Amino acid sequence: MSPSANVRLEGIVKKHGSFTALHGIDLEVRPGEFFALLGPSGSGKTTTLRILAGLEAVDAGRVVMDGVDVTHAQPGERDVAMVFQSYALYPHMTVAGNIGFPLKMVGMAPAQIDTAVREAAAKVDIGHLLDRRPGQLSGGQQQRCALARAIVRQPKLFLLDEPLSNLDAKLRLETRAELRKLQRSLGVTAVYVTHDQEEAMTVADRMAVFMEGRIVQVGTPHEIFRKPATVAVAGFIGTPPMNLLPAVLSPAGVQVAGALMDVQAGHGAENSREVMLGVRPGDLRIAPQGIPARVEFIEDFGDSSIVNLEVEGQRVKLRAGETPGLNEGERVHLAFDPRGAHLFDRASGLRI
Ligand code: ATP
Repeated sequence: MSPSANVRLEGIVKKHGSFTALHGIDLEVRPGEFFALLGPSGSGKTTTLRILAGLEAVDAGRVVMDGVDVTHAQPGERDVAMVFQSYALYPHMTVAGNIGFPLKMVGMAPAQIDTAVREAAAKVDIGHLLDRRPGQLSGGQQQRCALARAIVRQPKLFLLDEPLSNLDAKLRLETRAELRKLQRSLGVTAVYVTHDQEEAMTVADRMAVFMEGRIVQVGTPHEIFRKPATVAVAGFIGTPPMNLLPAVLSPAGVQVAGALMDVQAGHGAENSREVMLGVRPGDLRIAPQGIPARVEFIEDFGDSSIVNLEVEGQRVKLRAGETPGLNEGERVHLAFDPRGAHLFDRASGLRI
């Protein structure tokens, strides 16, 4: 039997009273994939995860796992394990008791539980902490304990809801790499909720971007970064995200803040058209001619810097080397490679 599940959501609608949290979600997660659900707060990610877990009933649509309709199956019947942001460990039980709890619930013999607990704890490097209670663990160790409890039943689907959000920045980086390694070695399918796009970009094979209860784009992190499908996705992905400026597209190029700039062939409109021009901070440069801008302030990160500029009353960010050699208040011009230009229809927000 495959250790990983294929998961499909078909036309999922979820309402809370008169509020619709999910407006018809369609999604397929392939066996063994590390799949991220990414989106701003309140966009419906956790609701989707809870529906996968069987913790939340749907108002319409189907949940299908390995070809079987599990829409109305109880959580215990789904072969899934969930790790929450809060870890949800039992404070009065030892680490071993916590990890073994799901096995105890299904009536496994104590000796077998002991073996399984030791194996799971070893996989996340907490084999030496089995006799402690959660209150005697660091945040990172508690998180590993929650992971061990999730993997002890060898589920086919791993559901993770912001599992790293309680860790400090450094531990978070280390743990996300380990989590990825663990998921690979177990061969289990994982669905991972996060509002942190950098986290999603670095761990996920593919991801779905949620906005207001809808999935607006599905793809690899690279695809979504390179070709955001809407202005909203463009404004959400990237650190810092893409600069977006109102512009007018015509056969001659794109008119922005009084400057006419080149865009890639194929983008040219036959008539003038109102658009949003998107350029990533790393694709902008200071040039002798181009979009007029004024330097506001510079954020220096040691090995790189972000130059904050003003273009027609709007903040624009440019990624530069360690010493951009610019002064606050200085007037400059901005240019970009036509290949770095993203164009979106101003009215619909859709990528052109
Ligand atoms: P976050 O990153 O903040 O956790 P999310 O994308 O996971 O956000 P959900 O928790 O899925 O968002 O919530 C989606 C929407 O549904 C939100 O607007 C939320 O307020 C609403 N919602 C969730 N649960 C309930 C409930 N029990 N009753 C009413 N509204 C709810």
